[in-house]
Amino acid sequence: MASSTVADGLRLRERLQVRARLVFDTAWRIGSGREGPTSDLGVLLDAAGRPLLPGSSLKGKLRSTCEALAPALGLRACLLNAAASGVFCASDVGWYKQQRSVYQSAVSQGIEAQWAWIEQNTCDVCKLFGSPVRAARLRFSDGLLEGGPLAPVQVRDGVVLDRDSHTAAAGLKYDYETVVAGTAFRITLDLENPTETDKALLGAALFEWAAGSSLGGFTSRGLGRFHLEEIRLWGVNLDDPQERIRYLTIPSPDEKLTDRGSWQAYFQPILDRAVP
Ligand SMILES: [Zn+2]
Repeated sequence: MASSTVADGLRLRERLQVRARLVFDTAWRIGSGREGPTSDLGVLLDAAGRPLLPGSSLKGKLRSTCEALAPALGLRACLLNAAASGVFCASDVGWYKQQRSVYQSAVSQGIEAQWAWIEQNTCDVCKLFGSPVRAARLRFSDGLLEGGPLAPVQVRDGVVLDRDSHTAAAGLKYDYETVVAGTAFRITLDLENPTETDKALLGAALFEWAAGSSLGGFTSRGLGRFHLEEIRLWGVNLDDPQERIRYLTIPSPDEKLTDRGSWQAYFQPILDRAVP
C-alpha cells in the first residue's frame, strides 16, 4: 500500500543523541538585540543574569558548519539561495514561489506524490535542518551553564570604521558586552531517524567543533572561539527488541538510551564511506 510507505517514513525508528561540553576559549557574545545595562549592545541573559546559549544559535551554527562541509562529502547544500549555490531546494523562498503550482499539483495527486516532490526538491542540508515544507530531524536544547551563579559580563569599546578610509569615523564610538573566556555549557542534540547522509554531515561537523570553531557575534574580532569536549553518543534503535523495551519502560530520559561508545569510532567509518 502506498500510504504505508509514508506512515513508515513518519514512524520513529531510531534516535541518536549527542551530549557534549562546549567551552568558550575566548570571550564571546550572543546579542540580546537590546542595549545592555551598561553598554550599547547587550548580551543575552536569563532572569538571574546568567548568560544564555540558545538551542537556536547552536542549530544555526551547526547548519553553517554543515553547509561548508557538504561539498567535501559530495553532498548538496542550497545555502537558502538557489541562484548562488546552483542547488534547487524548497528552502529558497524565491525558487519555491516559482515552483508552487508544480508542488500544488503534486499535493493534489496525494500524499505519496507530495512526499516524493519534497524528497526530490530538498537539499541534503535542509533534509537534516528542515525547510518550509519539511520538519527538521535535528533538535538542539538550550545550553546548560556550568559553574557559579554568575558568569561575569565585560564591556568593551568598539569604533565605527569609515568604509572608504578604514579609519575610525570621528565621534562614532560604541561599547558592547561580552561574556568572559572559559564559560562552559552542557549541550544536547537529538536526531530522529537519521540517514547515512545525516550522520555523515553531523559526524564531520563534530570533528570540526572538537578541533575548534567560533560562534556568536564579532567572530572576525576573535570573539566566540569554542571547542567541544567530553562528546558522548547515545541512541535507540526501536527495531532492536532489547533497546525498544529499555526505551519504553525506563522513565528517566537520561537512561532510556543506550551508550553508543566512542563517537570517533562511530562516525569515522560513515565518513570514510561518504567521502567521494
Ligand atoms: Zn536546502
